Amino acid sequence: MTTVHIPLGERAYDVRIGSGLLEQSGTLMARTLHPARVLLVTDDNVAKYGYASLAQQSFEAQGIACSAFVFPAGEASKSLYTYEKILEACTAFSLYSNDALIALGGGVTGDLTGFAAATYRRGIPFVQIPTTLLAAVDSSVGGKTGVNLPAGKNLVGAFWQPRLVITDIDTFKTLPPEEYANGMAECLKHGLLFDQALFASLENGGPVGAAQIARNVELKRACVLADERDTGQRRLLNLGHTLGHAIEQASGYAIPHGAAVGLGMVMISKAFCPAIVNRLCAALEKNHLPTRCEYSVQELFTALEQDKKRAGKDITIVVPLEIGRCELRTMPMAKLKQLLEERL
Ligand code: ADP
Ligand code: ZN
Repeated sequence: MTTVHIPLGERAYDVRIGSGLLEQSGTLMARTLHPARVLLVTDDNVAKYGYASLAQQSFEAQGIACSAFVFPAGEASKSLYTYEKILEACTAFSLYSNDALIALGGGVTGDLTGFAAATYRRGIPFVQIPTTLLAAVDSSVGGKTGVNLPAGKNLVGAFWQPRLVITDIDTFKTLPPEEYANGMAECLKHGLLFDQALFASLENGGPVGAAQIARNVELKRACVLADERDTGQRRLLNLGHTLGHAIEQASGYAIPHGAAVGLGMVMISKAFCPAIVNRLCAALEKNHLPTRCEYSVQELFTALEQDKKRAGKDITIVVPLEIGRCELRTMPMAKLKQLLEERL
């Protein structure tokens, strides 16, 4: 088992990464938390694989009463409706301030459960057990929780840190290839941003191990901690995301997040760092991610401008300098558009 410590003062916590950890989740939790009861939140897809019952048995073996709340898998469930249902399940199970919520699943489960934990009785502990690669390398660090509104994604939320993260890499074996690829896009992003060796270890494809996941968590941790000191470092994590969000939006969310971020990284590299484009595209292809964007620059800018209501204003983007090194650059929207049109 590999441990990454997230030193956030009173809110410090550990991320445990390894194989067979679901069966140990009760003992791992008992080292830091002593709830009488826990409510385990998961989606019906994850429940199908038996992960919830493994975790549940492990908690019960520690004398912790555990009830499960299962919601329908998918982004549509990241709503105030499901949030309210979770709160109702908390009261029905008589969860008190010293008890805990457990998020077992991907980003949707983590965001929903974290937000319920942040607000139920003005905040109770929660433990994240990410079962997607994306959640393990991305949302398990940073403390962002929340739900969507009809008007847009993540419009309601709170910062709320988990008390413990347990990443059992065995659960990734059942991930659909597309979901795995989604996580790989964020891993490649971390490599391109900060760590040439990590990028090199990912560029031939294949499943990632505990050590690589731990490295991703460390890199994200560095950004999150730097930002507590307000250096703007966290914004580097937006590499590939500005154009990526525009691509997702233009496709009506038919293109998955990871695929869109990969395309965003390719486009920004073509415009600002052509020397890395071939290597980046080869790495994406090996990891079953697309490299060709079907939308024109004009279509993407229509989405961008609608999104940010910032036509004519400046935009800050993350620009690669080489594999493992990037920087923030602010420029007028029109300038970015012109550069992309010239160089794509
Ligand atoms: P994210 O990709 O942000 O982590 P979700 O929480 O929606 O988003 O998870 C993506 C999909 O993968 C959901 O349908 C979820 O049920 C499914 N899923 C999550 N973990 C696993 C797993 N270990 N095996 C198979 N499917 C999973
Ligand atoms: Zn992302």
